[in-house]
Amino acid sequence: MAEVLTQAAPAPQPLVALTEDEVLFRDNVRQFAEKSIRPKVKEMDEKGVFDHEIIDQFFQLGLMGIEIPEQYGGAGGRFFESILAVEEISRVDPSAGVVVDVQNTLVNNALLHWTTDDQKRRYLPKMSSNTVGAYALSEAGSGSDAFALQTRAELKGSEYVLNGRKMWITNGKEAGVFIMLATVDPSAGYKGVTAFIVEKSFSGFSVGKKEDKLGIRASSTCELIMEDCRVPKENVLGEVGKGYKIAIETLNEGRIGIGAQMVGLARGAWEYATKYAQERKQFGKSIGEFQGIQFQIAQMATEIEAARMMVYNAARMKDAGMNFVKEAAMTKLFASQVAERVASLSLEIYGGYGFTKDYPVEKYYRDAKIGKIYEGTSNMQLQTIAKLVMGGK
Ligand SMILES: Cc1cc2nc3c(=O)[nH]c(=O)nc-3n(C[C@H](O)[C@H](O)[C@H](O)COP(=O)(O)OP(=O)(O)OC[C@H]3O[C@@H](n4cnc5c(N)ncnc54)[C@H](O)[C@@H]3O)c2cc1C
Repeated sequence: MAEVLTQAAPAPQPLVALTEDEVLFRDNVRQFAEKSIRPKVKEMDEKGVFDHEIIDQFFQLGLMGIEIPEQYGGAGGRFFESILAVEEISRVDPSAGVVVDVQNTLVNNALLHWTTDDQKRRYLPKMSSNTVGAYALSEAGSGSDAFALQTRAELKGSEYVLNGRKMWITNGKEAGVFIMLATVDPSAGYKGVTAFIVEKSFSGFSVGKKEDKLGIRASSTCELIMEDCRVPKENVLGEVGKGYKIAIETLNEGRIGIGAQMVGLARGAWEYATKYAQERKQFGKSIGEFQGIQFQIAQMATEIEAARMMVYNAARMKDAGMNFVKEAAMTKLFASQVAERVASLSLEIYGGYGFTKDYPVEKYYRDAKIGKIYEGTSNMQLQTIAKLVMGGK
């Protein structure tokens, strides 16, 4: 008689497995990025200006409110989809990737988790349909030491009056809504830090200098100036004195987004280099026939795969409600290292041509550098990881 075999439980999905809906979503974003962003990348980089038509298209495609529930006009998706969108767009243009990244992983994220019902009704429909957001924590004197911020918020009647300057604010030029971190009591240290929802139209608010940068040049990075800027009390986000918690928690998610930006960037550079290696001839054959080049292409592909698995796993952990702080820090640290290495090697595969602006790889090389700096420098990620792993987590 044949032995009856007991069936094992279905095997868990591989880390990089996507659902049918996710594959469809990713392919749609990829197609859009190829068709509508790719032709504009060089000019946007040269001019240092982001094309408004692309922002309009982001809104039309639902890419600016991916996790916002449908009842507020959003796409009702998961964090993982935001990550897929950032990766696919950054493959074509990391500047475009960060516009979508900041909107979804920082601004909408903060608004989804910390707003009152009234604030949800006032802000979520805008963020899904026509308003770019920005996240304003850093100042000239406070970067890594973010909670040493000096922007002051004083309660006067029914309003808070904000005074101070923010620096380095992504989307500063395009944004209509700002998540603004200020202190209600400088002597209280981080416990004075409070988050506000500030609109561009509020009196006393203005956008200052736009930085002229090495990379992600099309993404605006601006100073924000508040001179007796009047913010209604109803626009405190979360609780007074709890802004530090909002900043820490949103940036934890944001770091996975930067990981996705860096994986997309690395893939974009790698694809160009791999194609070029098959076309460029030296010594009577394509350079891709030399084992030295093949090994470089293989090494890069391996590193990109490893970084992507870290990004996807951290995003899945977030969607599953698990603690992902360590994984997010590791993801950003590693993906930004991979992006820099891959962009550099891709440029070398192009030889002298790679060093010119006639070919696309030098831009990826310039764009890669930011991954190690914003949303916490690599040293800050290492500090977080060390604290957690040495504490047994
Ligand atoms: C293009 C761009 C976009 C940005 N977008 C935003 C944004 O949208 N919103 C926002 O709020 N901010 C934004 N930033 C600011 C960014 O987050 C900060 O630049 C970053 O956190 C580093 O701060 P810093 O520049 O003051 O450098 P610093 O903090 O002065 O660091 C300088 C160096 O010292 C190291 N260092 C500092 N402290 C330690 C330590 N304890 N141990 C070891 N090493 C240390 C750092 O790693 C770094 O190498 C952006 C920056 C750039 C360049």
